[in-house]
Amino acid sequence: SIPVVTIDGPGGSGKGTVAMRLAERLRWHYLDSGALYRLVAVAAMDRDMDVDDEAGLGTLARELDVSFGVHGSTLTVVLDGNRIHGRLRSEPVSVFASRVAAVPAVRDALVDRQRAFRQEPGLVADGRDMGTVIFPDAELKIFLTASAEERAQRRYKQLKEKGESVNLSRLFREIEKRDERDRTRAVAPLRPAEDSHVIDSTDRSIESVLEEVLDLVQK
Ligand code: C5P
Repeated sequence: SIPVVTIDGPGGSGKGTVAMRLAERLRWHYLDSGALYRLVAVAAMDRDMDVDDEAGLGTLARELDVSFGVHGSTLTVVLDGNRIHGRLRSEPVSVFASRVAAVPAVRDALVDRQRAFRQEPGLVADGRDMGTVIFPDAELKIFLTASAEERAQRRYKQLKEKGESVNLSRLFREIEKRDERDRTRAVAPLRPAEDSHVIDSTDRSIESVLEEVLDLVQK
């Protein structure tokens, strides 16, 4: 079967960067599954939909008109014919995405869409449940973590670089709240797959984590 490396973990653990760079190095496809949940959130916000409208959100997720492209190290996303820029990673979308991701109908609707990314010569899949639910047969599963403080710091830097006004202690609380929701939801809760390699990226550079993962891939 077509090889898959899964990289799961909480937000700010560095998994997005590590997964994208790994895909570049291997010349494999890359799946940013969080972007799919964020896109459902954006589409729902644009339609003034409520998070309680489970059936509506499920349909929206199933019918989502989206395409992805990778150009160097930037990901371009087109939703409903319009290119999405900074909005996807903004705080309001992060908050709504984490609520939408707890809706079972949304998760179900995205399963096949995610599996369709598994194409020759291979796939690097980044998310929360890549190793546990979407690609349980992956050859290599990584679970990347970092302390909550470090993850909040990284996110703070990212948002500031984009010119968003942010408050570090508020951001810290919001990240904790989202992690808690991801870990305790009924469907696909965030947890390391039993056969995953757990890597703590606290106080480590992306490069050193990337090298460690590459070593594991080549084993
Ligand atoms: O990884 P990212 O922060 O972009 O993900 C956005 C949200 O989507 C997360 O807060 C999480 O709740 C959800 N998510 C998920 N399953 C995935 C990827 C993301 O539930 N595989």
